[in-house]
Amino acid sequence: MPKEKKDSKDKAAKREGMRSAWRFYGYLFRYKKIFLPSLLALFLTAALSLAFPFLMGALIGEGNSNNTGWLAPILDSRHYTVLALFSVLAVQAAVAYWRIRGFVTSGERALADARHDLFRHLVTLPVGYFNEHRAGELSNRISSDLGMIRDMLLTTVPQFVRHTVILIGGLIAIFLLSTKLALFTLGVLPVVILLVAIFGRKIRGLSREAQDELAAANVVIEETVQGISSVKSFANEVFEIERHKKSLDGFVDSTLKAGRARAFFVSFIIFVLFGAIATVAWFGSGMVESGSLTPDAFSTFILYAIFVGASMGSLPDVFGQLSKGIGATQRLRELLDERPERMNVDENEPLIGRIDVKNLGFAYPSRPESTILDGINFEVRPGQRVAFVGSSGAGKSTLFQLMQGFYEADQGEIAYDGRAIMDLPLKGLRQQISIVPQEVLLFGGSILDNIRYGRPGASEDEIRDAARKANAHEFIESFPEGYETTVGPRGVKLSGGQRQRIAIARAILADPRILLLDEATSALDSQSEKLVQEALERLMVGRTTLIIAHRLATVRDCDQIHVLQNGKIVESGTHEGLMNDSELGVYQLLVRTQML
Ligand code: ADP
Repeated sequence: MPKEKKDSKDKAAKREGMRSAWRFYGYLFRYKKIFLPSLLALFLTAALSLAFPFLMGALIGEGNSNNTGWLAPILDSRHYTVLALFSVLAVQAAVAYWRIRGFVTSGERALADARHDLFRHLVTLPVGYFNEHRAGELSNRISSDLGMIRDMLLTTVPQFVRHTVILIGGLIAIFLLSTKLALFTLGVLPVVILLVAIFGRKIRGLSREAQDELAAANVVIEETVQGISSVKSFANEVFEIERHKKSLDGFVDSTLKAGRARAFFVSFIIFVLFGAIATVAWFGSGMVESGSLTPDAFSTFILYAIFVGASMGSLPDVFGQLSKGIGATQRLRELLDERPERMNVDENEPLIGRIDVKNLGFAYPSRPESTILDGINFEVRPGQRVAFVGSSGAGKSTLFQLMQGFYEADQGEIAYDGRAIMDLPLKGLRQQISIVPQEVLLFGGSILDNIRYGRPGASEDEIRDAARKANAHEFIESFPEGYETTVGPRGVKLSGGQRQRIAIARAILADPRILLLDEATSALDSQSEKLVQEALERLMVGRTTLIIAHRLATVRDCDQIHVLQNGKIVESGTHEGLMNDSELGVYQLLVRTQML
């Protein structure tokens, strides 16, 4: 890339970064009543710390000088000087206490607001976004980036203000004390500053790399833990350990590289900066000898010079932290800028349950070149039962995803009650569609809460009633804690059939017009199967139902069966119709080979 172009790109990125940082400061300004006084206090304590070298200088040089001006009475007596010193320290200490409390209070509240907004935004994003971003990566990113922003708000910004105030104040002080000596001191500084800036940039780049590597290593841990049973059943522990080691090695490499750069940087600062101060002391003592500088002014000068040097030495690190924090705000802003799902005004018109699908075509945004659904046409009248059969990968689940508006079709349309899905409020529509999936996900919590997920706000009686209809009441009551039994990752493990009946109870509670059933491929034991079937029969009464079917018993009762192959409907009809077809079609093959 030509340098000019890169520079302007860098500048644009920097501006963008600052804008994102401001956006996060917006959260802080909600707490301005606490934050602004704290910020003011920060300036005050920083300015007060400049009194320290002044009074200390007077104390050290005591007896050697004749002070003039209004401070003379204080500076001329070591008792008064130390008293003044203690007064300044007391004020500083008290203000610092309130300042830090204020910063933490406003900062933590602002961060909690930001975290909440991020999550609120995250759940509005379309399903496609979550397909493209791994769960571990997302949650890691949010927590590590927010951690960096916390460091920036609570540590780096105060440091930045303190060091800048001390630097500027210290520079003014040394010039007032002796212009000649100050100029000599500054003779060395521009070189240092320049080198500091170059190094700082390099270190920043390296630490960003290290962060990315660490995130990759965390993803491995997360994926392995989540899929631990697959890992074990394939005896792939060693593979995962290797995978983790590899990404960890990457992290260690780049973090060591960053560490080396930082170490070199610090030793450089120590030598050059403090070496410069030693040179200044040598030059200054010459001035004292020749009588052009008082010993009192000289000791004060040295103390200020040390302050200036220390601040200057810290600033690059502070800048590094600041830009890390700004990088974090930028990444989170990218997340906040992701376009949420279409949110129409929430009109909740009840559906009758008619479905028309016309010429539907679709490819996943992540793989636009592979067509998954191609010219799908079908219609379902209210209350009908329609089955979709076909081999794995034919596109049945994809069709269900589109029916729920998780993705937008590339071609053709889906209409409910004659209204295109694009014109329907997504939330309202989804409230009238229930899905009973193959693999039911239970949340950590009680069975009661898990069923209530179907309709938040349902009463306990309604929940029990739904459980009865779903043939779930009995097994729930058989647990010692009944409906209060904890399920989910840390609770009681339920069998596949039991989980399905919970899902059915959820759906009964939701009372939708349209049902999407994804029949389990894995066989349940016959008792459980019977209970699930019975519950499903009850659930389906009076509702339009689409079923991804794997069992002959299910399709026999359907009003219409569509056979999907490679994203196309290749045969349609009732079971009898399709079986009586003189031509040996896909359906007949499926039935004869007992694939159905
Ligand atoms: P079925 O339910 O009939 O088994 P699917 O609808 O699950 O079929 O899958 C159809 C095709 O779409 C498969 O080739 C699968 O690899 C692909 N597919 C499924 N989900 C995604 C996704 N999120 N991103 C990209 N491709 C996908």
